[in-house]
Amino acid sequence: MKSWTCIENCGACCKFNLNERIDLADKLNKEDIDLINSMTAKDGWCKNLDRENKKCRIYETRPHFCRVNEFSIGFKEYLKSGDQFLIDCCKEHISSIYGHKSVEMKNFKFAVSKK
Ligand code: SF4
Ligand code: SF4
Repeated sequence: MKSWTCIENCGACCKFNLNERIDLADKLNKEDIDLINSMTAKDGWCKNLDRENKKCRIYETRPHFCRVNEFSIGFKEYLKSGDQFLIDCCKEHISSIYGHKSVEMKNFKFAVSKK
């Protein structure tokens, strides 16, 4: 079974549209939502992302909802499918941001195949 891993030079999950994320409704409190709104630029990208290098500028102190290993345990799909759920989520993000045939998708698939 493949294991999930995050890859460098991606950041596909750092673009938000909370209106499209009804799955998060019971995972975020008002403080989280306020924080997300304050972090989000008009075009949907997180202001903390160094977009040139696709790196989080506050990685060590990033919010709990950015910590995949921690946040994922609140999802029943994760409890059921484990890392496959995380892999599918990343693929969905990467596909919607960079495209299904993007370099980022190839890099991600390669990285999880090596785990
Ligand atoms: S979409 Fe997945 S691989 Fe890309 S930055 Fe987010 S967690 Fe990492
Ligand atoms: S805080 Fe960092 S990890 Fe979280 S969305 Fe922003 S750039 Fe991405």
